[in-house]
Amino acid sequence: MTIARFAPSPTGDLHVGNLRTALLNWLMARKAGGTFILRIDDTDRERSKEEYVDSIRIDLEWLGLEWDRIERQSLRLDRYEEAARNLRETGRLYECFETPVELSLKRKMQLGRGKPPVYDRSSLNLPEEEKAAMRSDRASYWRFLLDRRAIKWRDLIFGEVSIDAASVSDPVLIRADGAFLYTLASVVDDLDMNVSIVVRGSDHLTNTATQVQIMKDLGGEPPSFAHHSLLTGPGGEPFSKRTGDLSLKELRSAGMEPMAILSLLATTGSSVATSLFSSLDELLDVFSIGSFGTAPTKFDPGAISRLTARHLSHLPYLSVSGKIRALGVPDGDAEAFWLATRENIDVLNDLSDWWRICSDGANAAVEDGDREFVSEALDMLPAPPFNSETWQNWTSEVSRRTGRKGKRLFMPLRMALTGRTRGPEMASLMPLMKRICR
Ligand code: GLU
Repeated sequence: MTIARFAPSPTGDLHVGNLRTALLNWLMARKAGGTFILRIDDTDRERSKEEYVDSIRIDLEWLGLEWDRIERQSLRLDRYEEAARNLRETGRLYECFETPVELSLKRKMQLGRGKPPVYDRSSLNLPEEEKAAMRSDRASYWRFLLDRRAIKWRDLIFGEVSIDAASVSDPVLIRADGAFLYTLASVVDDLDMNVSIVVRGSDHLTNTATQVQIMKDLGGEPPSFAHHSLLTGPGGEPFSKRTGDLSLKELRSAGMEPMAILSLLATTGSSVATSLFSSLDELLDVFSIGSFGTAPTKFDPGAISRLTARHLSHLPYLSVSGKIRALGVPDGDAEAFWLATRENIDVLNDLSDWWRICSDGANAAVEDGDREFVSEALDMLPAPPFNSETWQNWTSEVSRRTGRKGKRLFMPLRMALTGRTRGPEMASLMPLMKRICR
């Protein structure tokens, strides 16, 4: 049974990088007919906020990434307590006494000597009396004692991975204020919830190594892992810092379409060519975790806009009828309005401009050299309502009388009627135009 989870920390809005993780886990679960768990990693009481739990749910629902159940780490503290007890019993969880300042000093000195900043285990062998004295003076924290051997697994993206545990600090599992940290909580949850596959960013590779050891010490079997490469900006720079503006909330309010975002994120960094998919089912057909590569992946946010426009240009009327009626387009015009405009909008919100042009008339845009021509042409235009022949009949007549042809004929007339140089086919737009401003 495939069980995957997406485990965001509710400390901010989801951005496209998080979504990539969510989507790949969702695809793994659904492709196998398995279970997809939304796990809220909220053990950090100070930074976790309820409003972000809500926005995570809203974002995933908007994208159609349904979860089978939701779990919250803050409700499972007794399980982490129990696991900590087990690890203490096996001697793998040990008490430490350094303050954050002391630790950072140690790291600086190690780096200064050209050594990797790996925790030196100085608390591990302190005599019991010294520990007792320390305890009366300061709060202790707890680390997992790594077995300093190579930790290996077969990653579904990275292939054979081997990380030398000697190059990694013993991970802190319990903070001095008693809070359980992500590493412990995540390990306990993945085991308790029978998670069988974990897809996450390659920034977690070292975490995975330590988690594999902790899981085994708890008597569990680690799941399969797939670490996806990190997204970068166009110049290869780290992604999330520079592009904090790419939160899903902002993409949604900018009018970006879910299928555009999903199509891009399910294929970026894989050997499957990016194109517009029409549904999550279609994405499931082409998805394979093995098609993803390990190199950092350049992410082009402009592709979301392009795919959004393409998505809209194919959308049937029924998918947007409510939105169109909400603009005040009469029922009799609604479908024709959509078919006329859908290939000429970037986002659905552009429709309101086009409807204003149709219903109220546009501020004509007329170049100086065309004034006389446009005025003469408009004199020849019958009053609305227009029909599907109006444009053809009118422009033929104008051409006959003025001798203008091609672009010199059509462009000034389009600009006079719509105020724009580009837009829908005029023959389809004219029957929808209720007013012409002069
Ligand atoms: N809460 C962790 C994060 O957002 C989850 C990582 C994981 O998938 O284990 O980085």
